[in-house]
Amino acid sequence: MTQISQRIQQMAASATLAMSARSAELREAGVDVINLSVGEPDFNTPHHIKEAAKQAIDDNYTFYTPVPGYMSLRRAIADYFNRLDSLSLDPAQIVVSTGAKQALCNVILATVNPGDEVIIPTPAWVSYMEMVKLAEGVPVTVPAAIEQDFKITPDQLRSAITPRTRMIMLCSPSNPSGSIYTRAELQSLVDVLADYPDILILSDEIYRHINYTGTYTSLATFPAVADRVVVINGVSKAYAMTGWRIGFMAGPLSVAKAVTKLQGQYTSGTSSIAQKAAEAAYTGPQECVEEMRVAFERRRNLVYHLACEIPGLKVREPQGAFYLFPEVSAYFGLHTPDGQTIADANDLAMYLLTDGHVATVSGDAFGLPGYLRLSYATSDDRLTEAFARIAAALSRLK
Ligand code: PMP
Ligand code: GLU
Repeated sequence: MTQISQRIQQMAASATLAMSARSAELREAGVDVINLSVGEPDFNTPHHIKEAAKQAIDDNYTFYTPVPGYMSLRRAIADYFNRLDSLSLDPAQIVVSTGAKQALCNVILATVNPGDEVIIPTPAWVSYMEMVKLAEGVPVTVPAAIEQDFKITPDQLRSAITPRTRMIMLCSPSNPSGSIYTRAELQSLVDVLADYPDILILSDEIYRHINYTGTYTSLATFPAVADRVVVINGVSKAYAMTGWRIGFMAGPLSVAKAVTKLQGQYTSGTSSIAQKAAEAAYTGPQECVEEMRVAFERRRNLVYHLACEIPGLKVREPQGAFYLFPEVSAYFGLHTPDGQTIADANDLAMYLLTDGHVATVSGDAFGLPGYLRLSYATSDDRLTEAFARIAAALSRLK
């Protein structure tokens, strides 16, 4: 039998993508499934961005690009974020990759040695733990449940740090909780990290534009740690461009160089056409971003209200991204109409799929058992229908 490496055998498959694939299978079999599992905007990519991609083909942007991305795109990204956060990023500090996913994985592979500890507050996006393991690092999870609004405290951070700690991964707004760290909360974490100059800070800010608080603070703006913050962002969420696969890292030059070396050996850089489209996203009109944000906020209000009406769900109003992360342990130990026991959130997600035809993802995949993640990046009508189905299915548990 063909050997599969231990590296891959030990890796968990992406639970978000697996649940989405399962719901697609059911749909193909004729079942009307509402898919609240995968997190991706349901909007089409804005017109002017698509036009830029068509123009790029006609203009023969069809050759290999520089490994870290076209200089014009990296300059556009630097200008955009320098304006937004009053930074002084140089394009040389930016490496464009095949989605924020690859940007994250690149930085981890380029900076983590075997045995190095990486602090990951949980709940955390499903891929973080697996990426760290791929680099033979050790994920050190720090749980932050609903009572603390899914945000870690400075004391928790300090007690998780050991002499082996090499990195902390933060995600704000968070996938899966939607929580956002305030400037003051970030300052209190920065105050701790200031005592540990060897810890790299990987700040996943991919949802920063899907924010309902009206204010945002990037970790790159704290002078005490700015020289060891690597920001991850991209066009997937803000510009509804998940399929274009453009994300980037922005951080210390040494990390950018190491990531470029790595990327030069295994992708040569990402698509030329998608890069020109992303350039149009960062340099073109920004109203589309706000229009989509407003639609997500309306849906956030809708799903939060609908979820609050279901007595067994414990919810907190998400501040950003497009996920609701209710605590669902009130249903554990109950029985389905055909006599099966709901032991945990995995069972509950499976029951909601098979009985209610609504696809969600168990919180276990995000490192925090007892929760479900529901993506509300779908139409208001479908969301209303989904919550009616969820309420009905849950009421059948005895
Ligand atoms: N970080 C987080 C927290 C995400 O939710 C996602 C989307 N799954 C990504 C990174 C990766 O985004 P991209 O589509 O740009 O690879
Ligand atoms: N951000 C999405 C999610 O969390 C995309 C799927 C993935 O890449 O995991 O569902």
